[in-house]
Amino acid sequence: MAEAMGETGNPSSVHGPGRVARQRLEEARRQVAAATGVRSDDVVFTSGGTEANQLALAQAMGRPVVVSAIEHSSILDAVPQAGRAPVTRDGMLDLAELERLLVEARPALVSVMLASNETGVIQPVAEAAALAHAHGALVHVDAVQGLGKLAVAPEWLGADLVSLSAHKIGGPPGIGALLMRPGFALTARQVGGGQEQFRRGGTENLPGIVGFGVAAGRLGTDDWPAIAALRGTLEAGLREASPTSIVTGTRAPRLPNLISLVTPGLRAETQLMALDLDGIAVSAGAACSSGRMTASHVLKAMGLDQDAECAIRISLGWSTTPDDIAHLLEVWRRFRQRTSARIGTLR
Ligand code: PLP
Repeated sequence: MAEAMGETGNPSSVHGPGRVARQRLEEARRQVAAATGVRSDDVVFTSGGTEANQLALAQAMGRPVVVSAIEHSSILDAVPQAGRAPVTRDGMLDLAELERLLVEARPALVSVMLASNETGVIQPVAEAAALAHAHGALVHVDAVQGLGKLAVAPEWLGADLVSLSAHKIGGPPGIGALLMRPGFALTARQVGGGQEQFRRGGTENLPGIVGFGVAAGRLGTDDWPAIAALRGTLEAGLREASPTSIVTGTRAPRLPNLISLVTPGLRAETQLMALDLDGIAVSAGAACSSGRMTASHVLKAMGLDQDAECAIRISLGWSTTPDDIAHLLEVWRRFRQRTSARIGTLR
């Protein structure tokens, strides 16, 4: 990325520096394509998962769209309430309800995430895609959280379009991609200089794209079983110190690195601040953008209305060590000793 930043060429220019930039761009495209199992031609770089999602939704051309109720806000905020398919208490898309909506709303496009960014619950994407296609709708999958952990190729998922974001795999923020099934004729949402084969206008963010390519090239090197084992130790310890706490989505298949923990009576910000004081960075249930914390729409959709403001999300990754887990558990035990008495009084 530093090398690319130091170069001045624009991939659209035909002079020498431009050709160097073009080579870097196409090499990164090959890396992303190879890591995800698609053809290079079927990778369109975007400014991130948000833009990839918006580009996918635009393929409905203004006609109705149906999405799951637990999608990321970059999908949800673009779709009216009536187009949201509910999830079960385990946080999985309710396929019967999806089918009902397909008949009722006759959508042009259905969008379902591969795995929830809050609970880690893996969604029945292939089943949803088959249903949607049977009703004549296009299928988009937001695979931002699944990249590196699950197969994401559109053909594998039965989807037409798949969104990715580099910063979820250790790449830089502000770069992502939309993958297409072979032969999909994508209509640009952002028009301009004809970049990305007229599918996404605007001078390419070459350093970001190079970083995405390198990160994609390293996929498959993380030891997910070891991370899942650490997560298991952490979950057991959290529950032991706080028997009223609930880990959500445990009856469904989940990503190996996320914990969504609800502790009734303890607001998320109280938990966050206490952990932060000890150098532990966790999130509120929702990815509280711009520092605002709102009750998690995901947990509300799962029927956990009352407790949706009491959820924290703990993410593990390649750099998480057994010592990190032990430290978090120790801090959590002390915190719960202090707070359980208070909750008792409040009740
Ligand atoms: N979709 C999901 C499931 C996400 O978790 C995120 C980001 O956290 C996005 C989309 C948005 O991606 P980006 O931040 O690259 O715009």
